[in-house]
Amino acid sequence: MTSDVTFASLGLAEPLLRALDAADYKNPTPIQHKAIPALLEGRDMMGLAQTGTGKTAAFALPILQRLSKSRHGAGPKGVRALILAPTRELAIQIDESFRTYGVHMGFRTAVIFGGVSQGPQVKALSDGVDILVATPGRLLDLQQQRKVRLDKVEILVLDEADRMLDMGFSRDVLKIVDETPLERQSLLFSATMPKAIKKLGEEILLEPVHVEVTPEVVTVDKIDQHVYHVPASVKRSLLLHLLNDPAMSRVIVFTRTKHGANRVSGHLDKAGIPSAAIHGNKSQNARQKALEDFRSGATRILVATDIAARGIDVDDITHVVNFEMPVDAESYVHRIGRTARAGRSGIAYSFCDPNERDELKAIERLTKKPLMVAAPVQGLEADQKHGERGPRHPHQGKPNGKPRNSGQQEKSHSGQPRSGRSRRPGGRNNQRRAA
Ligand code: AMP
Repeated sequence: MTSDVTFASLGLAEPLLRALDAADYKNPTPIQHKAIPALLEGRDMMGLAQTGTGKTAAFALPILQRLSKSRHGAGPKGVRALILAPTRELAIQIDESFRTYGVHMGFRTAVIFGGVSQGPQVKALSDGVDILVATPGRLLDLQQQRKVRLDKVEILVLDEADRMLDMGFSRDVLKIVDETPLERQSLLFSATMPKAIKKLGEEILLEPVHVEVTPEVVTVDKIDQHVYHVPASVKRSLLLHLLNDPAMSRVIVFTRTKHGANRVSGHLDKAGIPSAAIHGNKSQNARQKALEDFRSGATRILVATDIAARGIDVDDITHVVNFEMPVDAESYVHRIGRTARAGRSGIAYSFCDPNERDELKAIERLTKKPLMVAAPVQGLEADQKHGERGPRHPHQGKPNGKPRNSGQQEKSHSGQPRSGRSRRPGGRNNQRRAA
């Protein structure tokens, strides 16, 4: 498809090409192929693309190149390129990508998000940064405290804009946009294109280039989806129990965290079932080896986090096990889409503990199909560790306690539920045109 296109032919400069080579990126992905030349020209962009398509590099590479054209700083507390992302995880990933691709360019970068103390973030911003990746609530907070200035922003990116709106960041995002100069390059990426996103695009983008990459079609219908309602403490024994079935010959087990992946893999090893864990803390070599062994069938079970599993392209996966429910419903579709490739059928088991019911509901809303409730398995042993903590109450960690996700997804600064804003007279576009 695009295999004959090289990054050099897209017009990227030598320091970026070296970094891409080191990251072992051989050829641009379709969105990179489509987006990079237009972004290098300074065009605005509306991108319809999901995570996993290579969209981060599609915007990060041209941003780095454009920033390198003039080496002036942004001044104290200033920012030259601003990337807004809905969650802390995504913000961290984007920042890491900038640092990987920009390794030979010497730019200052910073990443800020809510749920942690602001001190170190304020310090990181005090001398100004070339590239700032931020979640909207914390950024607006710091901007209002005059800890950061946005009046020197040359390039603005809204990443996963649909999620930002869904999370109630609409007002914060617009307030932030208003703080940036009208003369800027603006990019908006979204996995879906509801009306609110189109409207946002009309407000902040100027004659944008539209790029769209169709995600891999996931035939969810061909996947038998079962859910086990179990306490967290018996998930391990349930997994062992299921793995007795020889039909589970090539299995991916998903956990939310790297530690979770290590723990599950360690537990399987102890039970005499060889497995490999892959996640961001493993070296490239270790990940490659684990994947090769999985592909060849030498390892039957791969334990992975969502992020690590993104690049996995292995056919004939018989089962996907959601040891922990994914934080968002789209990840569920991505996860189970690992099975039932190329028209085959597949099976997905989800382990849902009482704290994960909301995630399950969100999944069922998205797929418009209730998961089949699997019959309880008798005689499962609870693990010691969970046992020590005592039984988990269905409401534990919910309204009265700290939500499990706290810190991962910050709250809307303005506390505004979804977008209820009416378009301003003139709109931001007209203001920009007039500028
Ligand atoms: P993203 O959609 O930006 O989250 O990227 C998904 C994954 O693909 C990340 O792990 C990137 O490091 C990787 N990636 C992005 N572009 C390429 C490429 N051209 N070749 C190989 N891997 C890539």
